[in-house]
Amino acid sequence: MKVTDHIKEAKGKTLFTFELIPPKKGNSIQELYDNIDPLMEFNPPFIDVTTSREEYIYIEKGGLLDRKITRMRPGTVGICAAIKHKYNVDTVPHVLCGGFTKEETEYLLVDCHYLGIENVMALRGDAMSHQKYFEPTKGGNEFASDLVIQIKNLNKGKYLHEVIESTSKSDFCIGVAGYPEKHIEAPSLDFDLKKLKQKVDLGADYVVTQMFFDNKKYFKFVEEARKVGINVPIIPGIKPIAVKRHLQLLPQVFKIDLPEDLISEVEKCKDNKEVRQLGVEWCTEQSKELLKAGVPVLHYYSMGKSDNIKAVASKVF
Ligand SMILES: Cc1cc2nc3c(=O)[nH]c(=O)nc-3n(C[C@H](O)[C@H](O)[C@H](O)COP(=O)(O)OP(=O)(O)OC[C@H]3O[C@@H](n4cnc5c(N)ncnc54)[C@H](O)[C@@H]3O)c2cc1C
Repeated sequence: MKVTDHIKEAKGKTLFTFELIPPKKGNSIQELYDNIDPLMEFNPPFIDVTTSREEYIYIEKGGLLDRKITRMRPGTVGICAAIKHKYNVDTVPHVLCGGFTKEETEYLLVDCHYLGIENVMALRGDAMSHQKYFEPTKGGNEFASDLVIQIKNLNKGKYLHEVIESTSKSDFCIGVAGYPEKHIEAPSLDFDLKKLKQKVDLGADYVVTQMFFDNKKYFKFVEEARKVGINVPIIPGIKPIAVKRHLQLLPQVFKIDLPEDLISEVEKCKDNKEVRQLGVEWCTEQSKELLKAGVPVLHYYSMGKSDNIKAVASKVF
């Protein structure tokens, strides 16, 4: 079932969902199941699985370092199929521009269609770790909007090269990313909103936001988005802060600000156990306020262990 249909069917009740990162190559999928199991009691109608682009690794060979390119966390579509099968929930694989040719993307989308996966998140992805700026992959999509076009074309039975009439068309529901604090590369929030509107006008069905720790930023973002005519559901993405180092890591990796109150509370914590508890309390308050405001879905970023998300969900749902 499509994400947008789940929202319609909920008739105004806020849904609980979360997203997972595939394990590093060589690790068991059981790790993921162990994190999903405790969250199933909150009835997530869909679960997102992220995609990581390729990266360089260095292997010592005869005193020299040999540079190889590899994907350390492969398997997004396979994991989506496994979760769908095991838990009977819908899954949303994240599909990236960076690191994939359009041909590879088509291959992946065809797999999703065969597997009965009806939703995809269309994302550009970031630069590779050694690059300063995002460089489009040769033969790949440049912006998420180009990826939305490719997916919409496939929904119409239009493949990259074939002229064959399609008899079994996909009908993907498409999610895209939105940034309450503006995407780092956008020259202004207005510019970024115009680009978000472009993704929606091209066929995106819903938006999931970058994480934020101050709900005012989300409410303002939704208000501005509605003003420019973005009328699809805007799902807030949130995360409980878990370790002291997040004070530096979250702004660095996700290009977001943290509220002063949260920073000073984290700084007062004696150890990471206290930070984890504080993170749960902060995220619970955020969740309760968002729920009261009638958001369609609360989407939790689970980057590892899910005990803190369970602690939040049990106080909110
Ligand atoms: C909910 C969510 C899930 C994510 N999941 C993943 C994941 O699984 N894997 C991963 O690697 N990353 C993921 N990301 C991170 C995301 O890939 C990065 O934030 C990336 O830098 C931007 O992706 P985008 O899809 O927003 O890009 P785009 O929408 O393409 O925008 C990128 C930048 O280009 C600008 N822009 C857009 N179109 C144009 C245009 N036509 N001309 C000029 N400028 C333009 C935008 O304003 C923006 O600054 C996720 C982010 C979010 C919010």
